[in-house]
Amino acid sequence: MATPSDRTPLAEQVEQLLATEGPLAIVAAGDPVLRRPTERFDGQLDPALLARFVEALRITMHAAPGVGLAAPQVGVGLRIAVIEDPAPVPEEVRLARGRVPQPFRVLVNPSYEAVGAARAAFFEGCLSVPGYQAVVTRHAEVRLTGEDEHGRAVDEVFTGWPARIVQHETDHLDGMLYLDRAELRSLSSNQAIAERWAGPTPARAAEALGFELP
Ligand code: ZN
Repeated sequence: MATPSDRTPLAEQVEQLLATEGPLAIVAAGDPVLRRPTERFDGQLDPALLARFVEALRITMHAAPGVGLAAPQVGVGLRIAVIEDPAPVPEEVRLARGRVPQPFRVLVNPSYEAVGAARAAFFEGCLSVPGYQAVVTRHAEVRLTGEDEHGRAVDEVFTGWPARIVQHETDHLDGMLYLDRAELRSLSSNQAIAERWAGPTPARAAEALGFELP
């Protein structure tokens, strides 16, 4: 079948990705797509294709499972990410980390800036760096600007764990991985996290592994 000539190369790529049912394959660290700044979304996908792509990101995030997924993580260099966190954690973890539930959201062309000087340091991981987690010190509160999937302007302050998620996902869209910001001495396997460092804060890990917390 002939290819419609007005379709962008990105639209062709996304159509091909969506030809297969179910969750998309997640790209792992080492693939250059994770290191390239993404293209701002400016209608490269028509509304129907954008909606299908967002749904595929959502399904893939749920299947992983994860609390955020950026387009480059499925190999697509567009400034789009999805987030959602049901936050099924004990009360003490919720209080220490500010891990409150975050409803599903689509971030289109997001950027963030710090609100205030407060910082928060906790273990985090990434679906593109499977098997490990490390402590990342991030802004405790950020102002996120951009658009939603319908092109409506977004200008919103995020705090607690949702602030961490939007920073992590927006960084992906700038070609950054969380390891670029991590305290590397904290790097821990998921097994070590489960056995030793599942506490609400990384204070004991900092002492035992020898790294500073803010
Ligand atoms: Zn990630």
